[in-house]
Amino acid sequence: MIPYGRQDITQADIDAVMAVLRSDFLTQGPQVPAFEQALAERVGVAEVVAVNSATSALHIACLALGLGPGKRLWTSPNTFVASANCALYCGATVDFVDIDPATWNMSPVRLEEKLELAARSGTLPDIVVPVHFAGESCDMARIAELGRRYGFRIIEDASHAIGASYRGGAVGNCRYSDATVFSFHPVKIITTGEGGAVCTADPALAARLRRLRSHGITRDAAEMEGGSDGPWYYQQVELGFNYRMTDIQAALGVSQLERLSAYVTRRHALAEGYRAALRELPLAFQQCDPQSRSALHLFPITLSEPRRRQVFEALRARDVGVNVHYIPVHRQPYYQRLGFSAGQFPVAEQYYATAISLPLFPTMTEAMQQQVINAVSECLQ
Ligand SMILES: *Cc1c(COP(=O)(O)O)cnc(C)c1O
Repeated sequence: MIPYGRQDITQADIDAVMAVLRSDFLTQGPQVPAFEQALAERVGVAEVVAVNSATSALHIACLALGLGPGKRLWTSPNTFVASANCALYCGATVDFVDIDPATWNMSPVRLEEKLELAARSGTLPDIVVPVHFAGESCDMARIAELGRRYGFRIIEDASHAIGASYRGGAVGNCRYSDATVFSFHPVKIITTGEGGAVCTADPALAARLRRLRSHGITRDAAEMEGGSDGPWYYQQVELGFNYRMTDIQAALGVSQLERLSAYVTRRHALAEGYRAALRELPLAFQQCDPQSRSALHLFPITLSEPRRRQVFEALRARDVGVNVHYIPVHRQPYYQRLGFSAGQFPVAEQYYATAISLPLFPTMTEAMQQQVINAVSECLQ
């Protein structure tokens, strides 16, 4: 079976991890700051806080931006559940903004409409989480402009989009947001096994994120109540978590990051191959902004006819490991119990009804891609 995504682990990665295993520190050593520094330079942002997953990154980013009971977070329904769950971890409520029918990202038009209504009923969101679906950045300039007008904070869920750019600037630079979150799960663009990071241009926010990642403990006398007792001393000044990344993971991250550009270039070459070969078939590709560059974490298509299940099963039977991204979050039983219902975000639901993600990963060979193209062509003819 050709998988829909797959990590690439080289000898250099293995050597980097082995060196940590032989060193003095498996965690809280030099590799985590080295990874944070390398990431900060790569995306052009002042601060990076590495954590044990993007889910943890979203959680502490929400907390650090003041989300809590009585507050509201809005995100896209076309995402992994973690983009919405982070609000619930904080005791806040979550709502969704429907997607654009061509880009499959949060629609700025729907967002503006919903904000106008919310302003009238006094239910404006405190945080909006745009998700850069499949690696293609949302329209951040417009979302940031709405943020200034309606007074909400912005966390970019860039779990799919490390290595992407938006109108000439790297995703992660936080030019249009308070924070940007990356995931390093093995199916994503680069991996640390499990892992995530928050990027921010705000040093005070970064300090708070570092404290939340490690139990709410500080060793900085300036943050302590009543000052320090001595060099051994630390204080827990708020309730935090153990969301730390290990040095084993960070060393893998440093090594993987060196190949980020090559990975994204390879993904673009493969995507071009798909677009050229499948252009005449009854299907649609994601519409991408010509001024931006997707990281192409996924290669989703939508079928022109409502026979996704049949096509999906036929492709799997031909050893093509297709997948579906995403079941709209509000359609999950847990969210239905919170009061969401079918038909509430119709564009995301229509998209889901015919969506299939084709295999795409940097070590995919031309022969593998030809097998996928042949299978898709047979199944759609
Ligand atoms: C993978 C993913 C996450 C969660 O990432 P983890 O590192 O597995 O916690 C969050 N949001 C989106 C959009 C994702 O694809």
